[in-house]
Amino acid sequence: MADPLTPGIAPARLSPQEIASNFEDLHAPLSPHEAAVAADRCYFCHDAPCVEACPTDIDIPLFIRQIATGQPEAAGRTILEANILGGMCARVCPTEDLCEGACVRETAEGKPVEIGRLQRHATDSVMARQGHPFDRAAPTGKRIAVVGAGPAGLACAHGLARRGHDVTVYEARPKPGGLNEYGIAAYKSVDDFAAREVAWLAEIGGITFDYGRALGRDLTLEGLAAEFDAVFLGVGLGDVNRLDVEGADREGVDDAVGFIAELRQASDLSTLPVGRNVVVIGGGMTAIDVAVQSKLLGAENVTIAYRRSQDRMGASRYEQDLAATRGVRIVCNAQPKAIHGNGAAAEIELEYTAEDGDGGLRGTGETMRLPADQVFRAIGQTFVPAPGLEMQGRKLKVTGAGRTSMAKVWAGGDCTPGEDLTVVAVAEGRDAAADIHAALDTDG
Ligand SMILES: Cc1cc2nc3c(=O)[nH]c(=O)nc-3n(C[C@H](O)[C@H](O)[C@H](O)COP(=O)(O)OP(=O)(O)OC[C@H]3O[C@@H](n4cnc5c(N)ncnc54)[C@H](O)[C@@H]3O)c2cc1C
Ligand code: SF4
Repeated sequence: MADPLTPGIAPARLSPQEIASNFEDLHAPLSPHEAAVAADRCYFCHDAPCVEACPTDIDIPLFIRQIATGQPEAAGRTILEANILGGMCARVCPTEDLCEGACVRETAEGKPVEIGRLQRHATDSVMARQGHPFDRAAPTGKRIAVVGAGPAGLACAHGLARRGHDVTVYEARPKPGGLNEYGIAAYKSVDDFAAREVAWLAEIGGITFDYGRALGRDLTLEGLAAEFDAVFLGVGLGDVNRLDVEGADREGVDDAVGFIAELRQASDLSTLPVGRNVVVIGGGMTAIDVAVQSKLLGAENVTIAYRRSQDRMGASRYEQDLAATRGVRIVCNAQPKAIHGNGAAAEIELEYTAEDGDGGLRGTGETMRLPADQVFRAIGQTFVPAPGLEMQGRKLKVTGAGRTSMAKVWAGGDCTPGEDLTVVAVAEGRDAAADIHAALDTDG
């Protein structure tokens, strides 16, 4: 039943069977034969550009050679040694911008080695086996608090636990995984993979999760720094940017990240209400994800309105094409001017824009209107500052491997400067763990 306040937003626009089929795995796993064929395309380059392009420096030619020689589990270990969330990264990395974009076969022939799918084949082989692939070092007696159980916090926690330290992970939400659990598009992480990966990661031992505990509400940084030998902050971006136009507070105007979290946690997607005419404001990965998933839920018309030209969109060309193949329309050089309706949103007014040579943007005065019973804001997330820590722009200032301005406190992932990607968060969590370990060792 639709909410009377938002009659245009209704559940069950498609049958449960249609929705289930729409949300199937984006890339089916490779069979062993397909993996062998895909691995055979690799030239095993010396100074491989694919490795250079990987934020976690996975030895890609080595793991592909291991697959080619029939050792997928050894390949999985090679990957996980560098990137403990290599399973999730294989599913969500924008490989077209990273390893596969740099692959010499992409440069020469426009068809890269399928590194992402091979990585999934290898990591799945390891995770399908009983037991964790790595051993924990002898206990050191040191205790570290990790705040946030997203990719950065999890990578850091694993790196520290593996070195023998005891880690307590404080997480504000009731479940671990961060945006792996609450943000990544549902068709990229099927079969509860995010939760299964965390359970597998924790098999290293020495990691305790404390859910529903938020820094700033239930915990203070000073308290943690006094109680623990070190603290790692992997709190991500806790807030979203506001839309500052007339009608932005109408019913039916929603935050894209919140909607995706609801979608990811829904036990039955056919009960999730979605608009008939959906308009998404933004141009990044979140905009694409909310647009595509709205379409897959049964929205009839889905339009992304982006204020700049298409080549400036944060979402990769691959993601843009994915949206187009799912029937999402992308309108560029159009910014929201007002959201109209008699109570709830019914129409959005967009103004065409022109870009100045110096990167500025101005409205041309020319407008158009689109029917819109649901409008998603996907105009960026923002960091909620942690008192007592120096900032760099709108994020936490760090030096070296994530050292903040406060002694004993490290940070990494989306809350610190750098690209907001799962693989970058993992790299930063991993490197901070190594640095914390070295610092604890030096301190005795
Ligand atoms: C909709 C969406 C889709 C995305 N899709 C992709 C994709 O396909 N590929 C990709 O590479 N990247 C993608 N990203 C980006 C990627 O998800 C992030 O870069 C990554 O999750 C960052 O990891 P993190 O650990 O820094 O933060 P998060 O994943 O945000 O985790 C932070 C954790 O800290 C917890 N927390 C926050 N504040 C507190 C507090 N005060 N106390 C205790 N706990 C707290 C949160 O609940 C959360 O669990 C996407 C992002 C979004 C929003
Ligand atoms: S660049 Fe391509 S061909 Fe070369 S090692 Fe990497 S995956 Fe193989």
